Amino acid sequence: MEQTLLKSLTKASKTLGIPEPHDGRGHLATNNNGAKWKTRNVEKLQGLVMHQELGWGSVEGVARYHTGPSSHLHDGGVESISYSWAIRRDGQIVLCNDLDKATWSQGYKGRAGDENAEFISVMFEGMFKGEKVTDPKAGEPNDKQLLSGMVLWQVCKTEWDWDSDDLYGHYHFGKPACPGDTLQVMIDAIRSNREKLVYDFSTVTGRQQALKDLGYYAMEVDGKWGPGSKGALVRFQTEHHLEPDGIWGPNTEAAMWKALKNA
Ligand SMILES: [Zn+2]
Repeated sequence: MEQTLLKSLTKASKTLGIPEPHDGRGHLATNNNGAKWKTRNVEKLQGLVMHQELGWGSVEGVARYHTGPSSHLHDGGVESISYSWAIRRDGQIVLCNDLDKATWSQGYKGRAGDENAEFISVMFEGMFKGEKVTDPKAGEPNDKQLLSGMVLWQVCKTEWDWDSDDLYGHYHFGKPACPGDTLQVMIDAIRSNREKLVYDFSTVTGRQQALKDLGYYAMEVDGKWGPGSKGALVRFQTEHHLEPDGIWGPNTEAAMWKALKNA
């Protein structure tokens, strides 16, 4: 798996004029006595989570810190850097760990089961502006880093056949500062098409919200299916060449998904 990804990344890097990826395994600091990562099933990975370094060092420095005695991750450090991938300031993508290592800080708070098993993490070198980032010198990821982030996402998305909303930032999991404003905009933009598709059509609220987002329903989403809601549905059905009966059936629902997807 790692070799396949590195090969795709190498190919992409040549086309896009970014540095070829680097296999950092065996080069970055490790600690044989540090806490061990759990093992996860690579085939079942659910998505990619982007992080920022929130610092002024390098991938090497972060690896030394995580594995060292002063690591905040674990007393006595951890066995290796706590990210699967990293992106350097010059845009080089670095493979930091075997992907079957479930490194720290990759899951939903409160998720049942081993949340750390589900996601791949990537850390961008640097200190980026964002919510709760107090360093006055904080800047932005540069163009090469952003491009490499997109490439890594695309290569992983293809490999695992993920959807757009399988891309996350650490802010989705309770760390607003990470990975900072600019990457958050990028992540939100990639996810936006899919985010529109979060509707529970088994509820009146979900149906009203969909009609509202598509511009057919102007009233309050209140969970009560009254004449206003029905009128909105009839207008939607008419415009989509469905029988305008005001009944939410399978054809209407299919047309609704399609409309929301294209919205
Ligand atoms: Zn983070």
